[in-house]
Amino acid sequence: MDADVLIVGAGPAGLAVAACLRRRGIEALILDRGDEPGRSWADRYERLHLHTPRIQSALPGLRMPRRFGRWVAKDDMARYVRGYARRHDLHPRFGTTVERVERRGGGWTALGGDDELTARQVVIATGYSHTPATPRWPGQEGFPGTIEHAAHYRSAMPFAGKDVLVVGAGNTGAEIAADLAEHGAARVRLSIRTPPNIIPRQLGPIPTTLLAISMDFLPAALVDPLNGLLQRWFVGDLTRFGMPAAHAGVVAQARATGVTPTIDVGLVAALRAGSVTPVAALERFDGAEAVLADGTRFSPDAVIAATGYTTGLLPMLGHLGVLDERGVPFATGARTAASAPGLRFVGLSNPLKGQLFQIGLHARSAARAIHRDLSHIA
Ligand SMILES: Cc1cc2nc3c(=O)[nH]c(=O)nc-3n(C[C@H](O)[C@H](O)[C@H](O)COP(=O)(O)OP(=O)(O)OC[C@H]3O[C@@H](n4cnc5c(N)ncnc54)[C@H](O)[C@@H]3O)c2cc1C
Repeated sequence: MDADVLIVGAGPAGLAVAACLRRRGIEALILDRGDEPGRSWADRYERLHLHTPRIQSALPGLRMPRRFGRWVAKDDMARYVRGYARRHDLHPRFGTTVERVERRGGGWTALGGDDELTARQVVIATGYSHTPATPRWPGQEGFPGTIEHAAHYRSAMPFAGKDVLVVGAGNTGAEIAADLAEHGAARVRLSIRTPPNIIPRQLGPIPTTLLAISMDFLPAALVDPLNGLLQRWFVGDLTRFGMPAAHAGVVAQARATGVTPTIDVGLVAALRAGSVTPVAALERFDGAEAVLADGTRFSPDAVIAATGYTTGLLPMLGHLGVLDERGVPFATGARTAASAPGLRFVGLSNPLKGQLFQIGLHARSAARAIHRDLSHIA
């Protein structure tokens, strides 16, 4: 065996698992296709701050400095992740892409390029938001404007004076629409297929995602009426500004679709000001025109697809029967599928309480379970 434990991914999740294992005397081999820890954060759009407060976003064994403020800027988050690797003396092997993981001879083999690495236990920490998902809209080849996924959006600067259609009103689409409206786009439309639940970032002094910690355990029928009241009180009726009402409450929608609510960091103000206009779902292109589900047509200069991500895990692990049809693992954290003992996932779920908080919990419990498994083998 090349290692007792192989961790795929040196983002917050992979590093947190490695740090928790180190505390238990286990050295893991961490592989990453990139070139430094925290790269995913360094590369995100300039306006981005965490939606979870600092105290809910720190990884096991290192606080976030107070100077980062309550809502940590994305560059500070990248700094924190790099500092986390240094503090725990973790040295991932960068430039190594794992393409497939196979069960062989009672252990696991990770394959990528010319590399073939074996380990008793494997942790997959390649990120829930891994592969940008962009629909193929009929007629898009003939569209003369630009179409890009939100993963490539950095700032509103290239869109100054332009007519922009943002597709998708999740957290990223909502924030990009607000950013464009605040920084000089001539017109911003927000195309909505599934109406989101829009919630404030904090309720009075209390960060909303802190309250969400309890919601993961409670029935939707119990908490959603209260959520509805709070939404009405703190956000108000947005249908007046053309925003369709969500079809289900915050918890019911998250459980049914895996989509967490849209946390308001500027969209509501932009809707009220009329600088972002909600429109129907984008169906197709007809030459220079975007054609919506309600038949509306217009000619945007640019389209930004804030249409989400997939885990990208199906090619790597699809043959093991541990993923659902969207590539999301059935079992996460300490738990393993019966067919794949010793294969775990950290950071591969999207709970209401925030992924970073969940990563901390799952890193600890996965490390405990790995320690137990390895002790049994020894
Ligand atoms: C725009 C945005 C904002 C977010 N804001 C918040 C927030 O406010 N609060 C919160 O709690 N969560 C937030 N999240 C969710 C989550 O916390 C972050 O995405 C976080 O970076 C997840 O950490 P991770 O280690 O699971 O994944 P990543 O940070 O994506 O790291 C995965 C690592 O795996 C590597 N990798 C991927 N595939 C391979 C492969 N095949 N072989 C080798 N290496 C590979 C990558 O290079 C990368 O270094 C946000 C996510 C996004 C996209």
